[in-house]
Amino acid sequence: MYNITLIPGDGIGPEISEAMIKVVEATGVKINWEIQNAGEEVYFKEGDPLPYRVIESIKKNKVAIKGPITTPVGTGFRSVNVSLRQALDLYACVRPCKSFKGAKTKYENIDLVIIRENTEDLYAGVEFKKGEKETLELIDFIESKSGKKIRKDSGISIKPISVFGTERIVRFAFEYARKNGRKKVTAVHKANIMKFSDGLFLEVARQVASQYPDIEFEDKIVDNMCMQLVQKPELYDVLVLPNLYGDIISDLAAGLIGGLGLAPGANIGDEYAVFEPTHGSAPKYKGLNKVNPFAIILSAVMMLKHLGEFKAAEKIEGAIAKVIEEGKFVTYDMKSSDDPTSPVGTQEVAEALAKIIRS
Ligand code: NAD
Repeated sequence: MYNITLIPGDGIGPEISEAMIKVVEATGVKINWEIQNAGEEVYFKEGDPLPYRVIESIKKNKVAIKGPITTPVGTGFRSVNVSLRQALDLYACVRPCKSFKGAKTKYENIDLVIIRENTEDLYAGVEFKKGEKETLELIDFIESKSGKKIRKDSGISIKPISVFGTERIVRFAFEYARKNGRKKVTAVHKANIMKFSDGLFLEVARQVASQYPDIEFEDKIVDNMCMQLVQKPELYDVLVLPNLYGDIISDLAAGLIGGLGLAPGANIGDEYAVFEPTHGSAPKYKGLNKVNPFAIILSAVMMLKHLGEFKAAEKIEGAIAKVIEEGKFVTYDMKSSDDPTSPVGTQEVAEALAKIIRS
């Protein structure tokens, strides 16, 4: 019996979590789900969108799986997702993007793994609000030290990238490549423009790469990387990126395999792991039993592999491949416009998967 923290999240989170539980239970792996709520509702009730009880539960169980959590735009509390990654030092975000036969997409045979640094960069949360005293002081300080003028009516977000943070994420990417039989790691950056942050990322990435002669290494500038992924995705294998580019490229890669409904993820640190889909809380679909549960179910597959439950993971992957190829028990986002059959709901997808797994 495994004790796993389950954060259902909000928006579509609870319904996809319910679907995921059905599928995992069908494998026979015994899990005691320790349910911990977080997010806006919890903020109104408990005064904190990420109460310490959630962190404590994950620290105790070491492994968690979560649904998406809405982040208010521009105002309100900081992203619970970002805070969680920082609180548990989940420094590596792993997002595999692999094509399924029959999925509605322009591309075939995509097999990419995006490894995103999770704790630094513009997501570090070091921000200065327009017009505040500290912000104006910072603007003066920058001008006095660098001679660069920043407009007084600016808001400022700081982009820290360290040797420590880069070293461990690039090492993680190479170790991942070795363990998973991957051939190449590509570091993605904008070192030509941001010489002291992305430039440092690239310099450290090159140093780490030199310790892994068995794995090919190359680097790409992020804008070129976007074009390359759209034109020749088959040339790429494992990508390692600072936080912001990693976030954006993850969605691009998800688009290549048929959309966010199919893109799982894991946030991993030295001690804890939190599995979650790449997509957000899609509030407009909340409670409609409409959205695709594959991404959270594939996140559970990653979790089962992390726990060493490879047979159960394979069973679920096999069932998903079968359901997608048949194209019958899939949600609206996986249907092409010329398909005369109707999509099914979130729970019906889970039931179809559970039936295959049990058979
Ligand atoms: P989103 O991922 O929720 O939605 C983007 C598009 O994809 C929408 O059209 C949505 O309907 C669709 N979509 C998403 N998941 C789907 C699924 N499972 N099946 C079918 N279609 C799906 O992104 P957004 O609209 O930018 O963000 C909504 C909220 O989610 C925001 O508050 C954002 O901050 C939050 N968010 C949370 C996480 C997380 O919890 N890790 C990640 C991303 C966004």
